[in-house]
Amino acid sequence: MIDIQGVDKWYGSTQVLFGVDLQVARGETVCIIGPSGSGKSTLLRTVNHLEDINAGSISVDGQLVGYREHNGRLHELRESEACTQRLGIGMVFQQFNLFPHMTALENVSFAPVKVKGENAAEARAYGLELLTRVGLAGKANSYPSKLSGGQQQRVAIARAMAMRPQVMLFDEPTSALDPELVGEVLAVMKDLARTGGITVVVVTHEMGFAREVADRVVFMDAGRVVEQGTPDEVLGNPTHERTQAFLSAVL
Ligand code: ATP
Ligand code: MG
Repeated sequence: MIDIQGVDKWYGSTQVLFGVDLQVARGETVCIIGPSGSGKSTLLRTVNHLEDINAGSISVDGQLVGYREHNGRLHELRESEACTQRLGIGMVFQQFNLFPHMTALENVSFAPVKVKGENAAEARAYGLELLTRVGLAGKANSYPSKLSGGQQQRVAIARAMAMRPQVMLFDEPTSALDPELVGEVLAVMKDLARTGGITVVVVTHEMGFAREVADRVVFMDAGRVVEQGTPDEVLGNPTHERTQAFLSAVL
């Protein structure tokens, strides 16, 4: 489903990803862990071309992301074309970034109508269904400023789901939350991950979540995938010394 091959990424004169290979199957849930600055966010952002890449290729569902091939060379897509590609990929960030002047339901149903041209009544109905699923049916008409951080993040997840993505990318979605609000967001993500067909990649520091929900855990360090395997393998019995050092510092 997601096929990342030999990806290098430079910021100016600094290389931050080194030949990263990562494949994620349809319906699989992958958690990416690793120290600060190891390139986790950068890698996730390349998957929907929020960052360009300097070598290698990324495809989602067999389609190159951010580039097209012509005469054996890759040419970067125009931003408008990259935006169209992004429609099939939902992304949720650490900060919730809801539209402050829209209610929860308007936040969720806005893009399907404006961007995909869905019927407004149907988009509202599906939006309500999604808000119900994330436990916020009663907050459909609330503005973000009246919601807790955990509620806002659940609206953000529903908003991404409203576009009916094949792939959901999460970049530390709970790390800006007060500790008592983390669980409710993780529960929503767990429900999503267990839904058939949707492919989920989560950058997280929540080792308990990774252990319980991930089909596979990927450990990154210094711009490389160092080790990957089942949660039991990587978290319970890591083979690489850098993984062991990281885990003994966080667990
Ligand atoms: P964290 O756990 O702290 O979020 P991370 O693993 O997500 O870290 P990245 O944010 O991907 O790490 O950063 C990888 C490296 O790239 C770091 O050295 C960082 O300083 C650098 N970097 C990230 N974004 C930029 C940018 N826009 N311009 C220049 N350097 C950047
Ligand atoms: Mg990051």
